[in-house]
Amino acid sequence: MIRFENVTKRYPDGTVAVEGLSLEVAEGELVTLVGPSGCGKTTTMKMVNRLIEPTQGRILVAGEDIAGVEPVELRRRMGYVIQQTGLFPHRTVLDNTATVPHLLGWSKARRRERARELLDLVGLDPSVFGDRYPDQLSGGQRQRVGVARALAADPPVLLMDEPFGAVDPVVREHLQTEFLRLQSRLHKTVLFVTHDIEEAVRLGDRIAVYGEGRIEQFDRPAAVLGAP
Ligand code: ADP
Ligand code: ADP
Repeated sequence: MIRFENVTKRYPDGTVAVEGLSLEVAEGELVTLVGPSGCGKTTTMKMVNRLIEPTQGRILVAGEDIAGVEPVELRRRMGYVIQQTGLFPHRTVLDNTATVPHLLGWSKARRRERARELLDLVGLDPSVFGDRYPDQLSGGQRQRVGVARALAADPPVLLMDEPFGAVDPVVREHLQTEFLRLQSRLHKTVLFVTHDIEEAVRLGDRIAVYGEGRIEQFDRPAAVLGAP
């Protein structure tokens, strides 16, 4: 579903963030990218939805070279969840959740119905939280809205960059459990970035362990844990 072929990213200042990366993520698979800060995880993610372009190599999504796909079109096929959720502070939870349907021109009634359904899906009662603003939510609740929003147009691919990185450990574990439950129903193709090996092992069908700009190991959780 997502295939990196010998991808290198060199930033204009000469920093080589990713070098010769090859990686294949199967449809419905959740792959975690784990490694210390600065090893190229976010760069890898941003190339998938063309926030940045590779210097060399190519990336295929569903068999198609994304270099030929308009970024706007590409992002419709991919939900993106980040640590700072990027929710609009002056829009309600319902409106934030329906951002993409709004861009796609869905009717107001259809948007609201979809937003309610999504909030239910991530465990937020829409009649309690729907009309609140982001600053009236806890950190964990905001991340749930971020996940709901990413799922709004039912994209086949989810890109998640440290989505649970800013919440306390108890809430994080809760969000992980909920996300696994969600994924077992939705079977999205997921790339999930974390610097926390426990989170990587818990969530990933397979785990890509990053060193500097490279994948040092790509395997199932048991094999990663069993490694010397
Ligand atoms: P990670 O997500 O693993 O923390 P990043 O992909 O953000 O790593 O960064 C990888 C490397 O690329 C780091 O050395 C970082 O400083 C560098 N880097 C990231 N963005 C830029 C940029 N826009 N210009 C130059 N170097 C960058
Ligand atoms: P946390 O300590 O996890 O960040 P908060 O103290 O922010 O949690 O929120 C605790 C509860 O109070 C949550 O259910 C949240 O939705 C609610 N809440 C927070 N701020 C407001 C507010 N300004 N108005 C109404 N409810 C709020």
